[in-house]
Amino acid sequence: MIQFEEYKMREEFDLTDRSLQKIVNTISVIIDVLFEAKTTITSVFRDDPDSVHYYYRAVDIRSRELTSRQCQKLVTVVNTIFPYGKGRFETMLHHDAGSGWHFHVQVKSDGDAEG
Ligand SMILES: [Zn+2]
Repeated sequence: MIQFEEYKMREEFDLTDRSLQKIVNTISVIIDVLFEAKTTITSVFRDDPDSVHYYYRAVDIRSRELTSRQCQKLVTVVNTIFPYGKGRFETMLHHDAGSGWHFHVQVKSDGDAEG
């Protein structure tokens, strides 16, 4: 079950890349099964052309319900199941980009070549 910090994010999430939606849905199941925690999306669209969020190919997920060990385990599991498939990028990151620690989940664009 995915929760949204703000209602508008529910509509934004519907606009995101289909493969991103599938990955985030899977992540919410993993978080539920492994850690019995809820998944809350805290950011979807961001009005910044330099951000993957601008292209509806990334979402942020709250991580404060999990220990740092659990966060690392989740990142490892998700990136194993869903390799980004381009360059040295990862599908899931756990980072503090200025607004506190959270998960950033991203997919490459359909137009990008494999590998
Ligand atoms: Zn992000």
